Amino acid sequence: LQLVNQIAAGEVVERPASVLKELVENSLDAGARSLAVELEQGGKRLIRVRDDGSGIPREQLALALQRHATSKIASLSELEQVASLGFRGEALPSIGAVSRLRLTSRPPEEGHAWCVRTDGDSAPAGPEPAPHPPGTTVEVRDLFFNTPGRRKFLRTDRTEFNHAQEALRRLALGRFDVAFRLQHNGRSVIDLPPAGDREAAERRLAQLLGEGFLGECIHVECAAAGLSLRGWLALPTFSRSQGDLQYFYVNGRMIRDRMAGHALRRAYADVLYRDRYPAYLLYLDIDPDRVDVNVHPTKHEVRFRDSRLVYDFLFRQVREALAQVTP
Ligand code: ADP
Ligand code: MG
Repeated sequence: LQLVNQIAAGEVVERPASVLKELVENSLDAGARSLAVELEQGGKRLIRVRDDGSGIPREQLALALQRHATSKIASLSELEQVASLGFRGEALPSIGAVSRLRLTSRPPEEGHAWCVRTDGDSAPAGPEPAPHPPGTTVEVRDLFFNTPGRRKFLRTDRTEFNHAQEALRRLALGRFDVAFRLQHNGRSVIDLPPAGDREAAERRLAQLLGEGFLGECIHVECAAAGLSLRGWLALPTFSRSQGDLQYFYVNGRMIRDRMAGHALRRAYADVLYRDRYPAYLLYLDIDPDRVDVNVHPTKHEVRFRDSRLVYDFLFRQVREALAQVTP
């Protein structure tokens, strides 16, 4: 079982950033309105995620650390239409197999919290009573302490921190209604209140993507053929010195999709420029029946049932929006 967990860990746990992503997605699944993430040494020493979500009852705490103990799929057919972010019951056991994990949780109706712990491959210890406000805290210490082969592949604190921060940025750009905070080595790095309207959303954008992007982009919002698209498109005056800024969300989840990337690049090439990669932050909403999210364990990919339609929609809408501001 230990080996199975450690192998599974290879699929979902690559570095602190992937741990952060899994933990934050669990918090969002649990209905959290506010999330605090703390990292030490780029997350190599500590990753702690605290939420104010629905919590885990005492009798389910140890279970949450066991494989395929997901509470999120009642039947196999539900796999077809998974609306929540996580659904495989593998993340916590996989992370626990390669770290020192402490899970503390208190459902709102309980008087206090309970805590369970694992140390790499050890069986869960606890539950023991613990002080904690309603919600859940997961603490992951010394990632890969028992798999030196993996630990060796971790980069500098700075690099791991940058990956973790990017993971949180992507999640925070997917849920404007939730508050996010990030601390690194005791210092506050990101502090985002919930953003209820466009003005507040743009303040969040400025904090996450920089004032530069916000100052040099246009806002788009359109719908056709059961598809809706909104977001921000950078104009040629915006130039990013390092890395690309291409965020594309489908039904709230950030994905990488070659077809979509191609449609957007072509729309830009038609109107503005063909020699550069465009920068954008876009949200596509589509009937969940028309898209398959269950393609890859880390869920960065989707498969559209009618990708031609989606392609044409993206291309036309973005080209049109850009054409309106370009002489
Ligand atoms: P999955 O998310 O695929 O169900 P995980 O291994 O990520 O599997 O989590 C296992 C289970 O632990 C979840 O199904 C959920 O019931 C519970 N859980 C994990 N994190 C939280 C959290 N922050 N708040 C409430 N429940 C949680
Ligand atoms: Mg999960």
